[in-house]
Order: sequence, then C-alpha cells, then structure tokens
Amino acid sequence: MPPWPIEDLEDDVPPAPAAANASPLLERLTVRCHSRQTPMIHRFRCSAPGCDMSWTLPRQSSRVLKHASHECMFIDEQLKQLVGAVIAGKRG
Ligand SMILES: [Zn+2]
Repeated sequence: MPPWPIEDLEDDVPPAPAAANASPLLERLTVRCHSRQTPMIHRFRCSAPGCDMSWTLPRQSSRVLKHASHECMFIDEQLKQLVGAVIAGKRG
C-alpha cells in the first residue's frame, strides 16, 4: 500500500529548481510533484519508472536512500549500486 496514491500525483511542470544545497544524488532519485485533487499539496516521488513510492516534504535523504538501496524494485541497477556506495561511505 503506497503512502499516497500515485495516480493522484502529477509532476511539477516546469520542475522546481533544485535548492542550492540539494544533493545531486537525491535530485536523481526523486521527482517533485503535487496532488491532482489538491494542487497545494506538494510531495516528491521515487524517480524510478513504475515505482509508486512517494514522500512528504521536506525530503529526508535517509528515507530516500533506504528506499533506493533496499526497497525499490524499479530502480536502475547502476543507480542502486551508487546509492549503496554512498550509504556505506556515510557509515565510515
Ligand atoms: Zn522506488
């Protein structure tokens, strides 16, 4: 059960500019979007095609990285390995 019905989410167009301190990896892993029914509700979703995971704002990198490395069934394998390396690096 996704935390938010993915069919209600629509990508922000044009995409909101990334914050100056935004992590490039997080930018690759997520897409800013909003509710179709309630456009003032902004969320961000997993960028992997076919994935229905989304999160509330503000973006929490730990959750996104955990999803990308352990939970996401749709993520690009190369990207997944990159996330794994980032997580491993943070531990050390
Ligand atoms: Zn995902």
